[in-house]
Amino acid sequence: MTVSGSSMRILLVDDVQMDRMQLAIRLKQLGHDVEAVSSGKDALSVYLKFDPELILLDITMPDMNGFEVSQEIRRLYPDWIPIIFLSSHEEPSMIAKAIDAGGDDYLTKPVDKLVLNSKLIAMQRIAQMRRELKRASIKLQELNQALQHQVNEDGLTGLYNRRFIDEKLNDMISWHGRHCFPLTLILIDVDNFKAFNDNYGHIEGDKCLIEIAKLTKELFSRSAEYVGRYGGEEFAILLSHTDKEKAVTSAKRIKQALHDASLPHEYNEDFGEVTVSQGIYSLIPNGHESINDIYLNADAALYEAKHQGRNAYVLAEGNR
Ligand code: GH3
Ligand code: MG
Ligand code: MG
Repeated sequence: MTVSGSSMRILLVDDVQMDRMQLAIRLKQLGHDVEAVSSGKDALSVYLKFDPELILLDITMPDMNGFEVSQEIRRLYPDWIPIIFLSSHEEPSMIAKAIDAGGDDYLTKPVDKLVLNSKLIAMQRIAQMRRELKRASIKLQELNQALQHQVNEDGLTGLYNRRFIDEKLNDMISWHGRHCFPLTLILIDVDNFKAFNDNYGHIEGDKCLIEIAKLTKELFSRSAEYVGRYGGEEFAILLSHTDKEKAVTSAKRIKQALHDASLPHEYNEDFGEVTVSQGIYSLIPNGHESINDIYLNADAALYEAKHQGRNAYVLAEGNR
């Protein structure tokens, strides 16, 4: 880590103009970027914009004294920027008070040149470490976000994955149970998809799944609507605040959207295009249902839709 030559943004707070100017000149000569203000109030008002890396703070000032300014900075900004107090008082009790008020060091006025330079070098080290820490933490945050995405996302389609949908359904059961609101799960399975793969190839099959994912996602993009890929060629849609009447409308929209897209599938019985079967389960949960029970109900309805000849939607028997 190189420290020499790196400049700092220093916020200098001193009500005595002569002291302030002299020190500001000296700091600027050392290559630092200095914002010099004459009161605690001004210091607080420039703080965020200037974003200091070091604060030199006079103690004796009218209105707000240095201790009060320091306490306010510590209260408002959890990011710990080093504060060095400046004072002509040398008593140990003042030093103790300064550290207690959130200060990191204490310099007596008039400030000795050599002492000031040494303290600045020490503070530069801290500032440099803080910058590196900040960069690392931003990078870590970005990585975390990307990872979070990957954890919840299906790699092929970009939809939510089964893990996320299960977790969301669990949350929805409790929340809707507490508020007595209906929720809906629609399970979707692509019809005769094995024949699609066998005839057009696996890559075309993947593209078809991506296409189905895209158009389904477009239909359900509001908050509290979740579209996931539940397994190979199965999708799950979770709809908050949705009773069976609304759920049927949703299933119709899916069917219609696929028909409009008219994705060719000449091996799909009489339909000649890609179709899906849908099992719908709507309920006002009591909050204690298991996700498995809900899936079993939707799955039974899906099975019935296949049985009825596919390209159909069926409401589960247990709908309530
Ligand atoms: P049904 O109408 O009864 O659902 O018939 P099906 O042929 O769709 O059902 P089956 O379960 O027999 O076959 C599902 C096929 O889905 C098997 C597999 O080749 C295909 N499949 C599953 N996951 C993927 C995938 O990620 N990519 C591709 N291309 N195909 C997949
Ligand atoms: Mg299947
Ligand atoms: Mg299928």
